[in-house]
Amino acid sequence: MMESALTARDRVGVQDFVLLENFTSEAAFIENLRKRFKENLIYTYIGSVLVSVNPYKDLEIYTKNHMERYRGVNFYEVSPHIYAVADNSYRSMRTERKDQCILISGESGAGKTEASKKILQYYAFTCPASEQVQTIKDRLLQSNPVLEAFGNAKTLRNDNSSRFGKYMDIQFDFKGNCPKVSSINDRSDWKMVRKALTVIGFNENDVEELLNIIASVLHLGNVQYGGEEGNVCITSDTQIKYLARLLGVNGAVLTEALTHKKIIAKGEELMSPLNLEQASSARDALSKAVYGRTFTWLVNKINASLTYTDDSHKNYSVIGLLDIYGFEVFQHNRYIFVGLKVWMWEPVQYFNNKIICDLVEEKFKGIISILDEECLRPGDASDVTFLEKLEDTVGGHAHFVTHKLADAKTRKVMGRDEFRLLHYAGEVNYNVNGFLDKNNDLLFRNLKEVMCMSENKILNQCFDREELSDKKRPETASICVQTLFTSPVSTSGYGPAPFPILFPPSLHPFLTSFSLFFVCLCLPFQAATQFKASLAKLMEILMSKEPSYVRCIKPNDSKQAGRFDEVLIRHQVKYLGLMENLRVRRAGFAYRRRYEVFLQRYKSLCPDTWPNWQGKLADGVATLVKHLGYKPEEYKLGRSKIFIRFPKTLFATEEALETRK
Ligand code: ADP
Ligand code: MG
Repeated sequence: MMESALTARDRVGVQDFVLLENFTSEAAFIENLRKRFKENLIYTYIGSVLVSVNPYKDLEIYTKNHMERYRGVNFYEVSPHIYAVADNSYRSMRTERKDQCILISGESGAGKTEASKKILQYYAFTCPASEQVQTIKDRLLQSNPVLEAFGNAKTLRNDNSSRFGKYMDIQFDFKGNCPKVSSINDRSDWKMVRKALTVIGFNENDVEELLNIIASVLHLGNVQYGGEEGNVCITSDTQIKYLARLLGVNGAVLTEALTHKKIIAKGEELMSPLNLEQASSARDALSKAVYGRTFTWLVNKINASLTYTDDSHKNYSVIGLLDIYGFEVFQHNRYIFVGLKVWMWEPVQYFNNKIICDLVEEKFKGIISILDEECLRPGDASDVTFLEKLEDTVGGHAHFVTHKLADAKTRKVMGRDEFRLLHYAGEVNYNVNGFLDKNNDLLFRNLKEVMCMSENKILNQCFDREELSDKKRPETASICVQTLFTSPVSTSGYGPAPFPILFPPSLHPFLTSFSLFFVCLCLPFQAATQFKASLAKLMEILMSKEPSYVRCIKPNDSKQAGRFDEVLIRHQVKYLGLMENLRVRRAGFAYRRRYEVFLQRYKSLCPDTWPNWQGKLADGVATLVKHLGYKPEEYKLGRSKIFIRFPKTLFATEEALETRK
């Protein structure tokens, strides 16, 4: 009996890293992951943290039967699963009446978005809901394909990489009937998006207008310029005709706006011709503005459709779901990250990430401030002067290096137009080419004017006349920052937690990479200031909730099932801070379980508690552990839980149970 239990463990590893005998060994950690991965066991715990390895294939572990199996069942009684995390959060929310959040981290393609979808589906299936709540849930589920269709991009690393961050609150009300969830397993993606649009309240006309906009962005990309310098023209008339129709604007006016710039000379408005380069960037700015604003509009529309308006049950609790950019590690990327080159190295050692955050974000002297300043400075400001300014201001910073400042060895792997930041997760070179342009990203005034005249109702809401009278500097024409986090559906009735929840250090690199990668790689530089506000807001939201963690790992770079790339995985284990997680977990009382759960599970091991303990739960547990031979230093009895210090204690008890079976 004992023998076969051990053999099984040898084969599939341990389902909680805390049970690893050699818990300080990274090699043992990775070996355990490998064993489980080979057996399609993609989930493993570190205490209550779930580690998930992307299988890159569909596993039969997300059926309704599985959902049933995890419903209301304690964490440790079933094999590790994303459903267990979802269920546990839900139950803590109910029993402790405290808002929860589930934080899913990992690099791009590691499975974060999938995980959040699984959680949503689990709640949709298992949580009782009134009809109105059900409608909201449907909408929430359906908002995913819509946002994905418009906000995601196929990248080298991930076919479906989220280009936007999402934060959603799922409200629960504790009245209601059993839900029926319409299946979202439609074959065709488009059909799915289309259907989803209907669910979130789009009528035929809205859909048509939205499609026209998307099509116009594609067509804008095909606009070619010709002619001589000083007399630039658009080469294809048909192209303009299409565009005018799709955008709902006058063709001649559009053409002029795409080739000219309005200037005021001696009190008179004049149209000054653009040169080729200016015209192309005007075109690009327009398509970014159209796409970005439409996406923002869509997010707002979805949020509005998700707002639950019935005041009769104010007693909501909330589970937050956060899905943000992956940590993209590129050799070179041609599309979104134009002009930036990114390399990664093995991380050096742990350091406090506040240093890096300040370096990037600090008012007046952070990198972003300096960029903004340089953009506003009239005269000879350029990417080069920006880099020089950086050298002058932050050149002495321990985590900042440029070619000029670097030692000989580093210089070999840096261009003269790059600066390097020493992140927790590794060293990254940033090429400054295009930084200023991107930060400015002019959307010329006359283009805005044209868009304000659009007959397309969506565009009409996206470009409003009021901003024309605004003398502010041109906006960032790119996906707006508000879309980074869709605002919470509603605030909970419960306010902030009475004490701050401290994040484990391993969450910090995640936030750093998140903020930094967004700010530096995802274009809306000017919006960086807004972004900081959002990050602070996000932190505030998170702080008020009790967090659960899901750490996603990508097993290989080729999206292949069954391939376990050890180098890649070791790197992720490092920067996700998993060994630290494990160490912290082992240092304290690794296990805590509610008395009733502990008794229920192990009562068969002691004649006094079997088949049922009649007295107080605490006494039953005391009797049981005494019988099992627990030593006083191995455990403590709390108010409602038993705390067990060493995993091997619980391990032995589990073994005893196994042997009995
Ligand atoms: P991220 O959001 O972390 O960038 P995704 O969640 O989009 O990554 O996952 C990338 C791809 O990996 C998905 O499109 C899917 O094909 C696959 N994948 C991720 N998680 C799972 C899973 N649990 N089961 C099967 N395939 C998965
Ligand atoms: Mg994603």
